[in-house]
Amino acid sequence: MTIKLSALVRSFRQIVGREFVHREPEVLATYESDGCVLMKARPDLVVLPNSTQEVAAIIQVCYEHKVPFVARGSGTGLSGGVLPMQGGVFIGMSRMNRILEINPDNRTATVETGVINAWLNREARSYNLFYAPDPSSQAACTLGGNIAENAGGIHCMKYGVTMDHILGLEIVTPEGDIVWVGGEHGYSDGTDWVGLFVGSEGTFGIATKAIVRLTPLPEKTKVFLAAFNRLEDSTDAVASIIASGLKPAALEFIDEFTVKAVNQAFDIGFPETSEAVLLVELDGSAQTVALDETRLLAILQSHSVSQLRMAEDEKERLKLWKARKGAVAAYGRILPAFYLHDCVIPRSELTHVLRQIQAIGEKYNVIIGNVFHAGDGNLHPNILLDPKDADMTKRVLDAGEEMLEVCLSVGGVLSGEHGIGIEKAHFMARQFSEAELDVMQRLKRVFDPAGLSNPEKIFPTRTGCGEIRKGLPEKILQTGAGWI
Ligand SMILES: Cc1cc2nc3c(=O)[nH]c(=O)nc-3n(C[C@H](O)[C@H](O)[C@H](O)COP(=O)(O)OP(=O)(O)OC[C@H]3O[C@@H](n4cnc5c(N)ncnc54)[C@H](O)[C@@H]3O)c2cc1C
Repeated sequence: MTIKLSALVRSFRQIVGREFVHREPEVLATYESDGCVLMKARPDLVVLPNSTQEVAAIIQVCYEHKVPFVARGSGTGLSGGVLPMQGGVFIGMSRMNRILEINPDNRTATVETGVINAWLNREARSYNLFYAPDPSSQAACTLGGNIAENAGGIHCMKYGVTMDHILGLEIVTPEGDIVWVGGEHGYSDGTDWVGLFVGSEGTFGIATKAIVRLTPLPEKTKVFLAAFNRLEDSTDAVASIIASGLKPAALEFIDEFTVKAVNQAFDIGFPETSEAVLLVELDGSAQTVALDETRLLAILQSHSVSQLRMAEDEKERLKLWKARKGAVAAYGRILPAFYLHDCVIPRSELTHVLRQIQAIGEKYNVIIGNVFHAGDGNLHPNILLDPKDADMTKRVLDAGEEMLEVCLSVGGVLSGEHGIGIEKAHFMARQFSEAELDVMQRLKRVFDPAGLSNPEKIFPTRTGCGEIRKGLPEKILQTGAGWI
């Protein structure tokens, strides 16, 4: 940084006001990690703008003095995407949290990107509409974070991920210009800039407003809980459901360990004698749901389902989903933290890969809970840990790397919805060729020639001899010393 911190502070105070610029160590400490508590890095400053113009003015100052910056939503990301790898400025979006318009005729909403996902859904429901991408973290995460990570969720199997629901974006470029891409109707001439920006993990600039698609609430919804004594029967049932052409709104897998954890935490009464539980939601018109139900039950029975329960009413339906979405919180009763992977594999490989994950858990003597979007083949092995235990932490990291190897070996990909961030950057060269990585990096340079917007993310970094760095950078591992 060529400019003194005190001069930066003065500039930012003029833009946003004194109380919205923070450099106090105790405040910076609250920003030092995201949902993956294994990695930590503190920004030098936190600035909290209240408008697009303020975001643009902050970035113009950063650009002028070549100071790196990172957009921060709620910090629920799980791939260290928000860690300020070169220090610099956090631009926190929490004050830009207004729902500007809900347009029921066009079925759209215009929002500032600091809006929390669940807040938009609460508002949309009063118009009989909903915003479909529903990450399990939706009570806390922002739409800006969802856009940056192309977030998914339980209902994305039928309705599609974030990318399918963003029509237009207001973006502040890494040079501080304000531009709109896309628009209210989802059609634009020329390059699909919205498609490029969604999933770019904060490396192409900051999204300040979004026009999002809203979907009519279905007339009828039914959730089924299907328990299986053998893992193989549950995963074969998933494959048969997909092959049959049925399109459940959600198709989720919960393993035996997680069932017990969730029962203890929420007293939900999931069957504990089974190796796996599937939660399957059907929705649509009453007639469609009735027809789909007949087909679904026949498939489940043909795969030796041991217990079958249907949510009796809306209250029970919401209770089941609350338990599913709270699974990670339930692990907190067993060990204080978790390390969660997010790879996607062909659904035909589910049984094989889950058995491999079990074996890896035994090899490294770590506890693993599996709860994931089975219909999408999007695995979420949660490895439980106590970050204060250095030996356990190392075993957890090694087990995680081996799981990623297994997923790639069956033709899988590194991330379904949590992004690459810093956590999986060193694995990118295993999934992509040098030429493919080069094209992606050239694109990044078009948006961000000075390399200031969320630097050192997504792409592998190299050692002095040009070799790709292995493992996570030492400077961000919690077991290492602080580095600021
Ligand atoms: C318990 C738990 C469950 C989860 N379940 C799911 C799930 O089901 N599905 C899922 O997809 N994810 C899930 N996540 C991961 C996480 O919630 C998502 O990645 C979410 O989209 C992050 O939003 P955030 O506001 O917290 O973003 P942050 O963590 O603050 O930031 C994430 C990335 O987005 C960038 N960013 C933030 N705002 C902007 C902006 N306005 N413009 C440009 N870039 C921006 C940041 O720079 C960073 O790179 C879960 C996390 C937890 C802790």
